[in-house]
Amino acid sequence: MEFKFNLTPQIFFGKDSFKKNSFVLLELGKRVFIATGKKSGVESGAIADIIAFCKTNFIEYYIFNEIENNPSLENIEKASKVCREFNADYIIGVGGGSPLDASKAIAVLATNEIEPIKLFENNFKNKPLKIISIPTTSGTGSEITPYSIITRHDMQTKMSFASMDIFPKYSFNDPNYTMNLSYELTVSTAIDALTHALEGYISKRNVEIADIFAIEAFKNFGECIEALVDNSITYDIREKLMYISMLGGMVISHTGTTIMHGLGYSLTYYKGIQHGTANGIFFKEYLNMNYEFAKDKIDNFIKLLKLKSIDEFGEIIYKLIGNIEINEEEFKKIVDISMTQKSLAYNIKKLDRNDIENIVRKSLAIRG
Ligand code: NAP
Ligand code: ZN
Repeated sequence: MEFKFNLTPQIFFGKDSFKKNSFVLLELGKRVFIATGKKSGVESGAIADIIAFCKTNFIEYYIFNEIENNPSLENIEKASKVCREFNADYIIGVGGGSPLDASKAIAVLATNEIEPIKLFENNFKNKPLKIISIPTTSGTGSEITPYSIITRHDMQTKMSFASMDIFPKYSFNDPNYTMNLSYELTVSTAIDALTHALEGYISKRNVEIADIFAIEAFKNFGECIEALVDNSITYDIREKLMYISMLGGMVISHTGTTIMHGLGYSLTYYKGIQHGTANGIFFKEYLNMNYEFAKDKIDNFIKLLKLKSIDEFGEIIYKLIGNIEINEEEFKKIVDISMTQKSLAYNIKKLDRNDIENIVRKSLAIRG
């Protein structure tokens, strides 16, 4: 056996985990920059908890609430300038994967005055600001990954950068912060978490020890399917979803994602489809396409979900997200961009353009 294994953030999981454990932040300084979106921080209740903590402990704070969904390099550049001017000691990302990822990029640019595009070189002279993550969706697992995914308008897609230095120092995972998340976003982000666990499980970069987390994620997801389909999502289900999201993050921290995400990025870029839905729409065909190369693992995945076949799984995904329609021009762009994704190389089956065209045609409704 030979592997590299690390999980660096200290995670506080559970109801009121921020309120109960935020004292650990006191050692990080007296000025905190908070990166969030227009509504996630407020609607989740997380911002109110952070403000209360800052006021009680005489900590100066700046709330930057302009983080875009699927944040662009330009958006990150703007936030970084504000963060540098504020002279923050550390940064808290609050929200879904978008603010969490943005906070990682801002943390690097706050201490390194480089062109934002240099982020993708994954190599920085100065250590970033310490990063704290507070997820308000249960999907990306960004709170436990060393990745930040950024929209590149120049390349018409999304691209990640990675560094051990952008692992959050602490993350506070409180399922209560997801109680107000809409049904659509709950479903979409849940599917995202499942794709992370599955893609890592059958990736060429698979690491056996990460399978422990993937298997735990599949078992727990199996216990959420009925509630997701019926839209009867209780606190207990939200707790499981947040747990699955964290487990999925633990998996991809070691394996990265594969072409299901590569395809999803283009669909998000061209059609504005939410991240988890954009990946999930390819899920069934992704399993079919890889089946002969990962038969035992895919069978185990289906079994752990307590299902009988890939088709039955596909029906559930269809019930959860339905159809997505594209036109021929979009079809060509999605295939072209997907062929340039580095995650293509990590797919267990070696894929050519024909394979990509097939998976896109079978997964999406294409208008003439
Ligand atoms: P998101 O883009 O962060 O958020 C989607 C929407 O949900 C936003 O409108 C957001 O509001 C809203 N929202 C979030 N939490 C809410 C809450 N509790 N109550 C009400 N509204 C809430 O979605 P996401 O799926 O979590 O993250 C997607 C991003 O993460 C993508 O850019 C993706 O590429 C990235 N990602 C990163 C990793 C990683 O390892 N780093 C892994 C997978 C995906 P606001 O407008 O206020 O934000
Ligand atoms: Zn994802």
